[in-house]
Amino acid sequence: MTRDEGRGRVVLVTGGASGIGFATASLLARRGWRVVIGDLDAGRTAGAAAEIGASSIAFDVADEHATEAAMERIEAAHGPVEALFANAGVIQPGSNPEELSMSEFDRVIAVNLRGVYLSCVTAGKRMARRGRGGIVITGSVTASRAAPLHAYAPSKAAAVHMAACLAVEWGRSGVRVNAISPGYVATPPVRAAIERGLRDPQLLRDAAPLGRLVEPEEIGAGVAFLLSDDASAITGINLPVDAGWLAGATMTT
Ligand code: NAD
Repeated sequence: MTRDEGRGRVVLVTGGASGIGFATASLLARRGWRVVIGDLDAGRTAGAAAEIGASSIAFDVADEHATEAAMERIEAAHGPVEALFANAGVIQPGSNPEELSMSEFDRVIAVNLRGVYLSCVTAGKRMARRGRGGIVITGSVTASRAAPLHAYAPSKAAAVHMAACLAVEWGRSGVRVNAISPGYVATPPVRAAIERGLRDPQLLRDAAPLGRLVEPEEIGAGVAFLLSDDASAITGINLPVDAGWLAGATMTT
């Protein structure tokens, strides 16, 4: 039997046209949420939404005015946004600090930190006024363990910490805010890194105690749980969904 966790409530999924966001949007739609996918390109976003019976809106999460306008349009069309998956994010191109331009560095911070903040505040202030709501921010295992991604990993560490700070801010207003930290998931950017020889899929599998990558739907299941009433006393946490990667490398001897 399909669980009706959403009960027709509106959830906005940013970065929902691809990868983890799309898989999560699809799962939330199946569990009774009224899903709105937000992403950059209007045609691609509308196409993704049509596949799963969701609505769509194109905006750049790093743009303050576009984000506020998007939220106003969503609420005018669908009613109050009661949940947010602040998931839109970008990986940095390459890992060598000398090859990363400052404009590339700034873009990573603009989307992964400023964009997450804008999405959370734009949705969360409305939730806080109404006295209820749920937010999940996409972090990363690189937020907790250092990686040679000196723009991306700190942006994710800050995003995870922001979930805890906003949980403190809005706890008394009935808004729960949590982070979810995926391990390696075979989405388009990870597949591209594998194809370019920047990541070895066997090494990624070997590093996880479960001996495999994570499926996008498995992140979606964690998000659905954190947004559901089953998680009603959970706020300010960071939930790794990482095939055990953070727990430590598997001993093979
Ligand atoms: P993806 O590229 O498949 O999806 C990301 C989506 O975000 C894209 O559709 C993109 O258009 C959108 N987006 C990017 N910038 C945007 C902006 N400024 N405004 C609106 N939308 C924007 O990548 P993914 O792997 O599904 O990543 C989703 C999230 O998960 C990201 O935050 C990423 O950092 C995080 N993450 C991914 C992995 C992994 O292994 N794939 C691991 C840890 C964390």
